[in-house]
Amino acid sequence: MGHVYDDQNIFAKILRGEIPNATVLETEHALAFRDIHPQAPTHVLVIPKGPYVCFDHFAQEASDAEIVDYVRAVGEVCRMEGVAEDGWRLIANAGMNGVQEVPHLHVHVLAGRNLGRMLSKG
Ligand code: 5GP
Repeated sequence: MGHVYDDQNIFAKILRGEIPNATVLETEHALAFRDIHPQAPTHVLVIPKGPYVCFDHFAQEASDAEIVDYVRAVGEVCRMEGVAEDGWRLIANAGMNGVQEVPHLHVHVLAGRNLGRMLSKG
């Protein structure tokens, strides 16, 4: 299945500087910023700078350099936020059943409280 990137999505606007964000970390190929509606004391979104819709799109089409930088950025955010010891959760929603609202790859880094079981019903 082909992935068609919509460059009017809200994270594309953030990357272009058209919408402000609370940046946690910026690297060559990644940007991490605080979620506007945090669901835990730590709720950071980490996105690649490239135009990738979802994790699978990124995995298929990103360069090795982009992938390495992005994965290392996620780990660095956890260390910067001081959550590595107490634990944290990484979520990447994709598509309709994953209930992905913003069609630019992002992982949620959630931490700072017991996050409960992985999925709620329904
Ligand atoms: P999704 O449901 O696509 O996995 O998650 C999208 C996330 O983006 C949500 O947690 C939502 O709160 C966050 N979000 C939506 N618009 C904005 C925005 O303009 N700024 C920031 N920082 N987060 C946003």
